[in-house]
This record gives sequence, structure tokens and C-alpha cells, in this order.
Amino acid sequence: MLDWLYPITCRLCGAASEHALCESCLDALPHVPRPICLYCGAPVAGEQQDAYHCAACKSKPRPFDMARSALLNDDATMPLIHELKYKGAAYLGKALARALSRLRQQTPELAEYKDAAIVPVPISKQHLRLRGYNQAEELALPFAEEMGLPLVTPLLRVDRNVDSQTRLSAAERLKNAKLVYRPAPEYEQGKKALPSHLILIDDVYTTGATVRACSAILKRLPSVQKVAVLTLLRVVNRF
Ligand SMILES: [Zn+2]
Ligand SMILES: [Zn+2]
Repeated sequence: MLDWLYPITCRLCGAASEHALCESCLDALPHVPRPICLYCGAPVAGEQQDAYHCAACKSKPRPFDMARSALLNDDATMPLIHELKYKGAAYLGKALARALSRLRQQTPELAEYKDAAIVPVPISKQHLRLRGYNQAEELALPFAEEMGLPLVTPLLRVDRNVDSQTRLSAAERLKNAKLVYRPAPEYEQGKKALPSHLILIDDVYTTGATVRACSAILKRLPSVQKVAVLTLLRVVNRF
């Protein structure tokens, strides 16, 4: 009976489940702890309450209006992201998108994005051919469906041989990101319209280079006023 109702088994505990991650395993994943920077969403250690700008945000302005992440990097979340991104586990996108939906419910600042369109961070055609899917879209599609919001693709990522981001400094990452993202011509020329508010979705926020480059492009498109960034994972260096 349970198998008929729940034909999938949880990727982490093996229990029969409606999703590829059961409710209790999803709940047990490490969430970004409060207090946070209300601007970039990073946890701010040593503060008693949420801060309006963390040290990093004070030193450099962000082109997005706010960013939030659902989960923290650790031994449980990193392998899941790795599978979603590199091991063909597109099915995990739908299971993990539930963490984004919960994040949205817990973020009152997102109330003004109720009529937003959802924008996945694009991957290059080369990566799309290799992987067969865009992991950010695998998260963004079920999220958009659950929110009843449209998904739009006003960003392109060009094929360009840039070094893998993982070994680069924050400044190098931002420089690379600025080289590879472009606005889609039909949106840039206003042939396709966008709402005033957009929610940009990506899998991981490390230095923020990708979402900063993408947000800067989105903010220059006709009629766009505000861009919120939601990522599944926040990479925080813990010593
Ligand atoms: Zn489970
Ligand atoms: Zn910040």
C-alpha cells in the first residue's frame, strides 16, 4: 500500500517517500542559521540579530536587492548538490526545490515579489549537451510551479573557455562571470516583456559572482526594478 502511494525511496534514508528526499531527511539538512545579513543572506556570526549589511556588503555594493539561501554546505548537502550538478541526478531538483519553497515562506521580505517571474541562472550550450539539463532550471521549474509564477529565460550563458570557478579568487570569479552572461536579445530589445520584479534561482552561492553578474544584467532590462536571488546552498567557510 505504501509502495503504491509512495513509489520512490528516499535517497538518504531509503524509506518509501513521495519525493526523492523524504520530509524528515529534508528537515534534517542544515539550514542557514540566523542571524543573517538581510542584504546578501549570509549568516553573521557574533551578531545578536539580523543585520542590514554584513562587512562584505558594506565594502562592495550588490546589484541584487536581496539574496537568501536555504541550506548550508556540509557533508550531507555537498554530495546532493554534486549529484544534482554532475551526476545526472536531475530528479533531485524537484525534491530540493521544496527547500526553496520553504525558504520563501520564511522570508517576509519576499512579499513584494508576489507577482515576480522566476529566472534560472543559465548554463552554456556545451554544458547542456554534456549534462542534458540545467540544474538551476531543475530547481526553478518546480519552485515556479508551486508558487504559480511564470518561468522566463532572459539570460544566456555563452560558451567560452574560462577556468573552472572553484579554484579562483572572488575577484577572478566576478571577472569571469561578467564575460559569460548576456541578456537574451528579445528581452533586451523589449520584444518580450518582463515584470518589475524577478527572482533569480541558482544552486549554489559561493562568492556570489554568478548571481551578481546575472543580477546586474537583469537590472538593465526594460521594466525590471528589483531582483531577489534565491539559492539552494550557501557555501560558508567554517574554521
Ligand atoms: Zn529520508
Ligand atoms: Zn551581506
